Amino acid sequence: MAEVHDECGIAGVWLREGNAAPQLYKMLLHLQNRGQLSAGLTTYSSKRGSLLRTYKNLGTVNEVFRTRNERTGELFSRLSGEAGIGHVRYSTFGKASRCYAHPFERKHGRKDRWFSFCFNGNIANYPELKRQLLSSDEYHLMYDSDTEIIMHYLARALDSASGKPNLREVFAGLAGAFDGAYSLAYLDAEGRLAAVRDPCGIRPLCYAVEPDRILFASESVALANLGCGEIRSLGPGEMLLAEGGAARVERFSLPIRKAHCMFEYVYFANVASTIEGRAVYQARVNLGKEMAKEETLAVNAEEYVAVSVPDSSKPFGEGYAFALGLPHREGLVRNRFIGRTFIEESERADKVKNKFSMVREVIEGKKVILLDDSIVRGTTSRQLISYLRQGGAREVHLRVSCPPIVSPCFYGVDMSTFSELVASRFAAPGKEMDSEATAHLASELGADSLIYQKLEKLPAAIGLPAEELCMGCLTGQYPTPAGQRLCASARGITRAYEVRG
Ligand code: SF4
Repeated sequence: MAEVHDECGIAGVWLREGNAAPQLYKMLLHLQNRGQLSAGLTTYSSKRGSLLRTYKNLGTVNEVFRTRNERTGELFSRLSGEAGIGHVRYSTFGKASRCYAHPFERKHGRKDRWFSFCFNGNIANYPELKRQLLSSDEYHLMYDSDTEIIMHYLARALDSASGKPNLREVFAGLAGAFDGAYSLAYLDAEGRLAAVRDPCGIRPLCYAVEPDRILFASESVALANLGCGEIRSLGPGEMLLAEGGAARVERFSLPIRKAHCMFEYVYFANVASTIEGRAVYQARVNLGKEMAKEETLAVNAEEYVAVSVPDSSKPFGEGYAFALGLPHREGLVRNRFIGRTFIEESERADKVKNKFSMVREVIEGKKVILLDDSIVRGTTSRQLISYLRQGGAREVHLRVSCPPIVSPCFYGVDMSTFSELVASRFAAPGKEMDSEATAHLASELGADSLIYQKLEKLPAAIGLPAEELCMGCLTGQYPTPAGQRLCASARGITRAYEVRG
């Protein structure tokens, strides 16, 4: 269980008949793993004065739409429309305030310039774009957020079009300015709906086109659970445009280089999703099988038990345990009904206990192989290991699905400095952690032993070549110029990986 949070999730729907709002609500529920801080949607209806209508607030999807309350029906009827976009947010940028919730709507007297949008990712050259905007003295920024910058760039591009803006040209222009990760949903007051994926395809985005509906979402699970059959990934630098009931995919930018975030497969994405045609579940099982090949202990079913950190590590644990013939037991159970806020606000030492219950019968007297998807700051691993020892584990051996995370992420995952990454003190980017450093880190975490996934095994386990993955946080090699620049300057500040131990 990584101590980082999913960034955001987006969704979009056009329907020939019916109301897009409840459909978006269902899709957002299936994307809830990507963000629980706020949720919102904008719908379009040609039948009401307010052609676009946005509703958003802080909270989970159910909290925001109050689905146990009779007002929900009223809300969906107020939002009723033939098309819409929706968003769930975890804050990697900006504060936990309703002002930062998506979608962002920009009203205008002309229908083709009145729009709403939401996105998943992070614009890595945000500071430069902000400086450029403010240098003209015509702009005033209200929030500390890349979303506001995108909104101004979009508005400026739409306003400068002569006649009706061509959306492909608008996004082609923005692709020249933006550097980073963005999977974006767009809706205007003419009912034009678009899904846009950055030229590297860092964050996932998929779609389905059917005779009576057009849908897209960050993850395929949101489409599959609405009964969509054929679900495709939108390619890097491509946009899906739905207009007048027809859909077409257009290229707005040449792909710079495919760079799909490896962490989506390892941890973020819903295990039931498929990204770029690769099943997330299978990738995680494969990572478990690879880990089994690295096992150095003479494990046996009498003394040892494999316990995965719920929920994202379970397929990893399954793959590992099956390959070694070990029992894979639910020694840790996620406390589903304890609220997110309660966990986040609890004392550091209590966080893990509030989040998980331990099944003593599984743990007591056993040598526990603890299977986790990643180690970021190390705090949770340390607490979990200590918790298992309190439960009577004789030994705790940590096995980690993701290779050491030693470099920050500039594309929307909330690990932006070297100093917060515990492994950065023990290994250099792109290098395997040596045995001495691994033993040192294991002891710092309180584990009897530690094995990380080998970096070279990751692409094959996912099923994509290394050249098509972003692995910047593992290798220090980022797919975009701003990522490279930010890494160099962060490294200059901390030179963290040189300060071992
Ligand atoms: S740096 Fe890491 S977390 Fe960020 S996009 Fe790349 S692979 Fe994903």
